[in-house]
Amino acid sequence: MEECVFCKIASGELKSEKILESDNFFAIKDINPKTKGHSLVVSKRHYQTLLDMPSSLLGEFLEMGKKLAIKLIDEEKAEGFNLIMNNYEVAGQIVPHVHMHVLPRKKGDVAPGLP
Ligand code: 5GP
Ligand code: ZN
Repeated sequence: MEECVFCKIASGELKSEKILESDNFFAIKDINPKTKGHSLVVSKRHYQTLLDMPSSLLGEFLEMGKKLAIKLIDEEKAEGFNLIMNNYEVAGQIVPHVHMHVLPRKKGDVAPGLP
């Protein structure tokens, strides 16, 4: 997956600060945040979508989402968060490497495409 941007970040070829890390996942800030603090949980290995990722990793994946949400709520003084996954191009997936969005939310904020 030589041209995959998240594989390049996983390998260190592209620099991006990893704000959390577990055996199989890491978290980074989104380069184009929809809300302040918008971050991503990314798998270290290349899987295109949730359906390609082994089910044995699901617990660790969601646990990372939860840890990231707690961290972002604390850092951004947020009151809630959205957990979002886009799977396949038709559903808005732009980077074909499995990832989960965590978007901290505050009353009155504006998050394009979200409630
Ligand atoms: P999706 O594939 O679910 O639509 O979203 C991909 C997300 O990855 C987008 O929100 C986009 O801003 C983010 N993104 C794309 N390229 C990079 C990158 O090189 N670094 C980081 N940190 N985020 C990226
Ligand atoms: Zn990849």
